[in-house]
Amino acid sequence: MTQELFRKLPKVDKLLKETTFLELIETEGYPSVYNATSETIQEFRKNISNGLISDFTPDDIFKTIINKIKIKSEFNLKKIINGTGTIIHTNLGRSVFSKKNAAHIAEILTGYSNLEYDLETGKRGSRYSLVEDLICEITGAESALVVNNNAAAVLLCLDEFSKNSEVIVSRGELVEIGGSFRIPDIMSISGSKLVEVGTTNRTHDYDYENAITDNTSLLLKVHTSNYKISGFTKEISREEIVELGKKHNIITMEDLGSGVLVDFSNYGLKKEPTVFDVLKSGMDIITFSGDKLLGGPQCGIIIGKKTLIERLKKNQLLRAFRVCKMTLSSLEVLFHEYYDEKSAVKNIPTLSLILEAPEDVYTRAKSLKSLLNENDIEADIIESFAMIGGGSMPEETIPSFALSFPTFNSVSLERELRTGENPIVGRVQNNCFFLDMKTILKDDFEIILNRLLDVSRG
Ligand SMILES: *Cc1c(COP(=O)(O)O)cnc(C)c1O
Repeated sequence: MTQELFRKLPKVDKLLKETTFLELIETEGYPSVYNATSETIQEFRKNISNGLISDFTPDDIFKTIINKIKIKSEFNLKKIINGTGTIIHTNLGRSVFSKKNAAHIAEILTGYSNLEYDLETGKRGSRYSLVEDLICEITGAESALVVNNNAAAVLLCLDEFSKNSEVIVSRGELVEIGGSFRIPDIMSISGSKLVEVGTTNRTHDYDYENAITDNTSLLLKVHTSNYKISGFTKEISREEIVELGKKHNIITMEDLGSGVLVDFSNYGLKKEPTVFDVLKSGMDIITFSGDKLLGGPQCGIIIGKKTLIERLKKNQLLRAFRVCKMTLSSLEVLFHEYYDEKSAVKNIPTLSLILEAPEDVYTRAKSLKSLLNENDIEADIIESFAMIGGGSMPEETIPSFALSFPTFNSVSLERELRTGENPIVGRVQNNCFFLDMKTILKDDFEIILNRLLDVSRG
């Protein structure tokens, strides 16, 4: 029996000479068809010897080959639909770009650019100068520098300002950010000596002052972006840190995490310290991410005193942390939006999603529900809450609406939508699967309909 099946297995080179295969080679290329065919034959051989196959047809083999070719031609990094309601989702790519921003990046990438070329002098230019003035103009900082991400920004600063010397940080601010950015670890990589002061819940100005020695080079404040200490608490204000720094002639720095240029409290949300607030306090150096509340590309932005930023520009590590033209072109479009706050909150998707009124989310939920109902898929609108995410405002939730699907089994629906083509990621709560409409856009409707139709057909 097994011997018979083995004999029935075609030889790879023979198969590749058949008309259907020649046609396939025409469209997919020889290497891809050859690899898929030999892998398939090997797979069948293994399954036959393991007794997993009792019979097969040439068509079974052909289908397996076609499937293998299809899987290999798919990209691993795919566009997905975010039904989690978390707006800045680190696992799902953080900030979404506007079409205008993406179009500008595409234009820069598909040709040459003046990345390191000064068009005035015709000589070599600096990539850093492309956005520096713009960032200074928008933020009001003296000087600015952009690196690969905020973790790199912090590391670069520690390497430059506090290598082999002491950095004072409050015990309440020794944060770990998802993806293993830990303040104590970054500190030891940089060769700085971490001096922890205060307790988890309370740190006073005298804690800082008592810890200052001749070997102290930096007073560091870290924004506790992804957690909140509440109850009996006391933290030293950034103004007090600045005062201490001035008194003892020590550099002050704040790792702000999510750099926001819009005061959310003007829009009815909780106050999150803005880049302007921190600058006004007199901190010498501020670092923040480009792809959190700023709403732009992955990068780390360092702003502050000119003399200090000049030192960073000469640090050898900068070469390893440098940003590419995609980042710089995107950042330029982003900061242009910030010339006018009205255009920023309208045109930067991260901000417009955060500030969108719940009524508008409800309208979107209703229109997706109608589309699904017209196609005989049941959906209920339920109240939910969206989150800002990206380690920003951990306790702040935004009222939202979601769709649940009463006729489906939650566990299998969640899995089916998450896998396969056009993945959709939703939320499961109390055994109920739902798609939060806060992060679902009108462009996503057709795909959601088709995926749900596929699942309901089985
Ligand atoms: C997010 C965050 C970082 C890391 O920033 P990346 O841009 O992800 O490298 C560092 N510090 C704080 C306080 C943060 O919130």
